[in-house]
Amino acid sequence: MEAFEYRKGEMFVDRVPVSRLAERYGTPLYVYNRSYLLGQYRQLVTAFSEINPQIYFAIKANSSAAVISTFAREGAGADVVSGGELWRAIRAGVEPSKIVFAGVGKTVEEIDYALMEGIHCFTVESEPELERISQRAQVLNRPGRIAVRVNPDVDPKTHKYTSTGKKESKFGVDLERAMKAYELAASLPGLEIAGIHMHIGSPIMTVEPYAQALEKVAPVCRELKKKYPKFTQLDIGGGLGIRYRDEQEPFDVQGFAGVVIRYAKELGMSVGMEPGRFLVGNAGLLVCRVQYIKDNPFKKFIISDGGMNDLIRPALYEAYHKILPVKETADTVLGDLVGPVCESGDFLAAERALPKVKQDDLIAVRSAGAYAFAMSSSYNSRPRPAEVMVQGRKVKLIRAREKREDLVRGEKNPEW
Ligand SMILES: *Cc1c(COP(=O)(O)O)cnc(C)c1O
Repeated sequence: MEAFEYRKGEMFVDRVPVSRLAERYGTPLYVYNRSYLLGQYRQLVTAFSEINPQIYFAIKANSSAAVISTFAREGAGADVVSGGELWRAIRAGVEPSKIVFAGVGKTVEEIDYALMEGIHCFTVESEPELERISQRAQVLNRPGRIAVRVNPDVDPKTHKYTSTGKKESKFGVDLERAMKAYELAASLPGLEIAGIHMHIGSPIMTVEPYAQALEKVAPVCRELKKKYPKFTQLDIGGGLGIRYRDEQEPFDVQGFAGVVIRYAKELGMSVGMEPGRFLVGNAGLLVCRVQYIKDNPFKKFIISDGGMNDLIRPALYEAYHKILPVKETADTVLGDLVGPVCESGDFLAAERALPKVKQDDLIAVRSAGAYAFAMSSSYNSRPRPAEVMVQGRKVKLIRAREKREDLVRGEKNPEW
C-alpha cells in the first residue's frame, strides 16, 4: 500500500486531492495519511500476535501530538530520548508505564522527571548513568527500573550516521562488558534490573542483522536470567526499514517476527520493540510548489519553496526521497530539485530524473513522515511548515504554519 494514489491523473491522499490541501494550507506542507499509520501499526501487531509484544513508538521520528496519540489509542507506548519527548508523549496520552527512555546523555533533571512520572524503564547507555539513576532513585524514593543497552557489534549496512550497534559507536555497552554492567546495577541501591536492550541502527532493510544480533545477545540473556529474577524483557529496538526507492523490497515483517518469536520463546522473555520510521516514514509527503525553473548551461534546477530546513535528510545522510508530480506526468528531466536556502547542500534530490514540471506546479516528496518535520528548523528565518492529517475525506490541521512572530519568540534585544 502507498499513502497516496493517482486518480484521473491527480494525486490523492486517501479521498482528498493533494492540490486542494496545498490551496487551503499553503506550501511547503506536510501531509500524513492516518489510515496508513494505523495499517503499519496493525501489521506489526498481527505479525507478532503470538507473543503480544509492547510496541514503543520512537517519537523522535515524528513527535506531532496527533501522530503519537494515533498510536497511543491503539495501545502503543513511547520510546523517548529526552525530557522534552517524555513530556510530549505524556501530553499526547501515552501512559507513563508504557514509556522507555533511551539516550547517552540523560541529565539529573530528566532522570528525576522520568522517575516522578513512573516510566516503565530506563534504557541505560553507560555505567556512570547506572550510578546517577541509582542516586536519584534513592533521593526520590522511586524504583529505577533499567535495561542495559548492549552493542552486539553487527553491521546494519546503513549510513554511518545512523549505524548505532557497532563497537565504536557512542551508544550502549559492548557485549563483553555487559555482565559487568549488570553486576554493577545489581550492587547499586534503588535499581531494578528489568531487561536488556539493543538498537543496532536504521534503516535496516533485511532481517539478517537482527538475527545476527539476537544470536549474539541470547547467551548473555540466558546468564542474566539465571542471576536476576526480574530480568524478563528483551527490547529489540527499532530500525525496521521502509521502501524509499521503488526497486527496494518491503521489509520482511513476517520473517522478522519469525526470528524474534523464536528467540523470545526459547529464552522465555517478553518482547519490546521501538519502531519509528516503519510506522510513519511512508505515511508522509512534503508538498512543495515550484518557484522557478533555472536552466544553467551545465545543469537544470527545479527550485521549490521547500528546502533543507524543512527536510534535511538528503543533505545530512545523502538520503534518497522519491519526487512525485502532483499532476501526473510521465515526462522527466535530468537535474536537481533544490530549495531556497543559501547553502549548496540545500537539495531535496540531486542529479536525477525528475518529473517534468513548470513554474507554480506542485511536487510531492515521498517518505516524508519520519525524521522529516521532526528534524526541521527555521534556518534562514523560514517559518516551519504546517502539518495536516487526512483520513477518508476528513482533513485536520495538526500543526499551524509558523508565523514570522514565531521566529523571534523568546528573543531579547537588550539595551546596553
Ligand atoms: C531512533 C531510535 C529508534 C527508532 O529507530 P527507527 O529507525 O525510526 O525505527 C528506536 N530505539 C532507539 C533507542 C532509537 O534511538
